[in-house]
Amino acid sequence: MIQMHEPSAARLGWIPPYLFQELDDLKAHAGRDLIDLGEGSPDQPAPRPISAALTKALKNTENHRYPSYPGKLAARAAVASWYRRRFQVALDPGTEVSMLVGSKEGVSHLIWGTCGPGDTVAVSDPGYPVYQNQVRLSGATPIPVPLEEKNDFLVDLDWLARIAPRIKLLCLNFPGNPTAAVATLGFYRDVVALARKYGFFVVNDNVYSELYFGKTRPPSILEVPGAMERCVEFHSLSKTFNMAGWRIGMAVGNARLIKALLKIKQNTDSGPFGAIQDAAVYALQSGAKFAAANRLMYKRRRDVFCGELVRHGWEVTPPEATFYVWTRVPPGYDSTPSGESVSLNFTRQMLASCRVMCAPGIGFGQGGEGFVRFALVAPEKQLKNAARRIGRRLAQNDE
Ligand SMILES: *Cc1c(COP(=O)(O)O)cnc(C)c1O
Repeated sequence: MIQMHEPSAARLGWIPPYLFQELDDLKAHAGRDLIDLGEGSPDQPAPRPISAALTKALKNTENHRYPSYPGKLAARAAVASWYRRRFQVALDPGTEVSMLVGSKEGVSHLIWGTCGPGDTVAVSDPGYPVYQNQVRLSGATPIPVPLEEKNDFLVDLDWLARIAPRIKLLCLNFPGNPTAAVATLGFYRDVVALARKYGFFVVNDNVYSELYFGKTRPPSILEVPGAMERCVEFHSLSKTFNMAGWRIGMAVGNARLIKALLKIKQNTDSGPFGAIQDAAVYALQSGAKFAAANRLMYKRRRDVFCGELVRHGWEVTPPEATFYVWTRVPPGYDSTPSGESVSLNFTRQMLASCRVMCAPGIGFGQGGEGFVRFALVAPEKQLKNAARRIGRRLAQNDE
C-alpha cells in the first residue's frame, strides 16, 4: 500500500488561519469606491532621490552578484553611524549589525535562531501577528503579554516580573503596531533590569521610531546602559521612507543574538539586493528631510481623520506615533448577539455600509478584541471622506 501524504506539514496546524486573508476576500466584493485603511502599507512611493540612488547602483555590476548574508560593510557602517546620530548608541558594524530583507525576515529568523521546543516566548497581545506565529512554528510556546488601555498599552512590569523566570525571550514593539503606544526610556530601563535579573533576552521592534508627531523622539532600548548584553532591535526603511516593497531592514544589538539570526538566514536567503543596500546607505545618510516630510504628511492625515470622527461624536485619541489610529469600537457596536467577535463584526459592517476597510483588533490577538485599527495610508481627502461616512453612519445608529 502506498502512503497518502498530507501536502502540508503538521506545524502549519499550529498557527491560526490568516484573518486578513478573509478580509481580503470581503474587500474583493466591496464595490468601487472602497477606502482601504486596513493594511499598514504606505501608499506613497519612496522619495525620488532614493529611487535615483537605486538606479545609479544598478549600474554597478558588483551588485548583480549574490549579496553577502549580513549585508555590505558599508551599509552596516551607515546603520551604525545613523544609530550614533539618532540614539547616541555605539554599534560595531562587524558584529552588532545585520542588514535584512525587511525586518519581518529578521523577526522570523531571530526567533528560529534563538527559540525552539521547550522555550517560552512572551509576545505582545495585541501585536504584530508574525511574532506569535513564528514562535509557534519554531516549536516554542508563546505567552501573550497583555497590553492594556489602563497601562497606556505598555507592559505591566509587575506582571512581567512574575513570568520573567519562565521566559527566554520577550518581544516588544514600541512605537506599537497596532496600539501606537510609545515607550519611554524609563520603561526600557525597567525592562532591561528585569532581563538582566532573570536572564531573558529582549527584542524591540522599532520600525516606527521615525514616525512620531510630538516633540520627544521615540528612544531605542539600546540607549539603556547594559542593554547590549541582552537586546536586539529591528528597524526598517519600509515605513520611514515608504520603501515597503523594496524589502530592506536591519537588526542591531547583541552580537550573539545577531549571530543566531544569521545562522538561520544563511540557510534561507542570501541577503538584500546590493543596489537596494546602496540606496539604503543614501537614505540613512541623507534622508532625514524625507523622514521629516513623511511625519508631517501623516500628522496632517491624523488630524484630518481624527478631527472628522470627533466632530461626528466618536472620541478617538489621535496617535502620538505610527500611522495607526487604534480605538475601541464605538458604543452600539460593543456587543454581538451571536457571540461573534465584536471587532470583526464592526469591520464587516463598516465595509458593507460605508465602504471603509479597517483592521479588526482580534486580528492582532485576543487582547485586541473590542478595538479596531485604521491605517492612515490614504490621501487626506479620502481619509476625510472615510471618517465622514463612518461618522454619519454612527449618527444614524444613534437615532
Ligand atoms: C510593518 C511592520 C514590520 C515589517 O517591516 P518590513 O521591514 O517591511 O518587513 C515589522 N514590524 C512591525 C511591527 C510592522 O508594523
